[in-house]
Amino acid sequence: MMCDFPQESFPISEPTVVDAILHIVYAKPCHAGTYTFPEFVSAIDQMHLYEISPKDHLIPPNPSFSYILSFAPLFPLDLYALAASHDLFELAIATLPHLLSFPLAMIDDITAMRIGGVYLKRLMSLHLSRHTSLKEILFPAPHPHAPTRKCSFDNQKRLQRAWTLAAAYLSWNMQPDLSITSIQTTLSSLEEQVDCEECREELKTRIKDVIERWASVPTVKLSIHHHMESGVNKYVRGLVESDI
Ligand SMILES: [Zn+2]
Repeated sequence: MMCDFPQESFPISEPTVVDAILHIVYAKPCHAGTYTFPEFVSAIDQMHLYEISPKDHLIPPNPSFSYILSFAPLFPLDLYALAASHDLFELAIATLPHLLSFPLAMIDDITAMRIGGVYLKRLMSLHLSRHTSLKEILFPAPHPHAPTRKCSFDNQKRLQRAWTLAAAYLSWNMQPDLSITSIQTTLSSLEEQVDCEECREELKTRIKDVIERWASVPTVKLSIHHHMESGVNKYVRGLVESDI
């Protein structure tokens, strides 16, 4: 018997892809290794063929959200591009911390087009804002103390110059994922050049201040979308903060 339905009304997907889509739609748990990253991406990209919107399903607490997010350490840019291309805001935000060390100049044209202008701007803003924050935190140099017989203002200028050089080195060579350890190691090396106890105390206080402020700089901008008011985003906020 002939079928009256036109062929194009039946999307043809790999069985694994269909299976993954069903897992997503019915919020079934996916265990590690159930699908590869390309399989799951392909499933999300093909959901529209079945008139299903990824935005309605790839959100917490659907287990598929955690499952796809588990690939973030390995495929951060591809995952961000996937999230951006489907406007999966929560997934994009949760992926951002994994992109802090990614050199933006390495993004090719095809990936940039998939990400799109709005999400590309968010990624670039994150990198730029952390860079700006670090420069603000590193300057000025430690405060000079009142001159003493052993340590004059001229003497203290040596520490000021050494701090400025170290701060410039850190900010020029900085990646947005610059670790607290790197900052501490670089700045603490200045202690070797200081033989005045008061200068040393000022230096330690200033290093402590830098580290505390850098640790408090957010790894994502959380105020860029109205969704952030929802309970769903408290879950995402927790995920993000756990990665700081
Ligand atoms: Zn001194």
